Amino acid sequence: MSPKALAFLGGKVLPLAEAKVGVMTHALHYGTAAFEGVRGNWNEEQGKAFVFRMKEHYERLHRSSRILHMALPYSPDDMCKITVDLLQQCGYRQDVYIRPLTFKSQEMVANLKLHELKDDFCLIIVPFGSYIATDRPLRCQTSSWRRPEDAMMPTGVKIAGLYTTSILAKTEAIKAGFDEAVLLNWDGTVSEGSGENLFMISKGVISTPAETDNCLMGITRDSVITIAKEEFGMDVVQRRIHRSELYLADEVFLTGTAAHLTPMGELDNRKIGDGNVGPITKKLQSVYFKAISGNHPKYLKWCTAVVPGGG
Ligand code: PMP
Repeated sequence: MSPKALAFLGGKVLPLAEAKVGVMTHALHYGTAAFEGVRGNWNEEQGKAFVFRMKEHYERLHRSSRILHMALPYSPDDMCKITVDLLQQCGYRQDVYIRPLTFKSQEMVANLKLHELKDDFCLIIVPFGSYIATDRPLRCQTSSWRRPEDAMMPTGVKIAGLYTTSILAKTEAIKAGFDEAVLLNWDGTVSEGSGENLFMISKGVISTPAETDNCLMGITRDSVITIAKEEFGMDVVQRRIHRSELYLADEVFLTGTAAHLTPMGELDNRKIGDGNVGPITKKLQSVYFKAISGNHPKYLKWCTAVVPGGG
């Protein structure tokens, strides 16, 4: 069967090209939406896509939506079922990006009262390759933009409006000739990348900013913390990290659904370690890539297998 570009909107499946909202939609004006990015990893030998940690993504979507006073008609389990059905119907035989979105769908402007506005759920699935350079360690830049503090906007969840900062930072980094931005907190400590969490390895210890450092509670971050412990007996320390610690680290890598587990070779024109992929990063990468594509028996519990066309 040839693949079909489909979406789920307003409670039904329809061609992606027909999934539209009006210009008055509240979310379009104010960023009153929450979203997820989920990957379906195509496994050619098995003829199946493996959707990675789908339930955890929908649980986070529910947490994000709750902060925006949304009343959603679907539970995380319902959303998983809608996703599997849509993925089967789309019939892609390649890696896909799954983008669920909850949003204030009311066609009303000049109303800042979340509790008065209707909500909707939309899901799109698109073919997706690599998000960021994978052939070499990344060259990164400390952004002139700071990660908002949780006291300014909720930072541990994926609320659409918050992404303006990430987008400004990423654009600034790319236009300056780098691959990715590193955002600091207001106090100058490290938070995360524009769309990734950050890990640092120094003297054999893996560290990552804590939840209170305004980073998103990443699902890849959690997966890496689990893999480090279970496969290599390494505890990841969650703590405040100073900017200059990154310059002096032996290894730094970024994690995210889109970016996978990607080494950083350079920050602000300073080499990290010798600038190549470090040994601990390599070990973690090898387990991670098996886990997300259904090739690691122990982590199959993180994957939902979907056969194009159903079955
Ligand atoms: N931080 C930000 C700002 C992000 O947008 C993402 C991508 N969702 C991440 C971190 C990584 O989160 P996850 O591993 O859940 O994709």
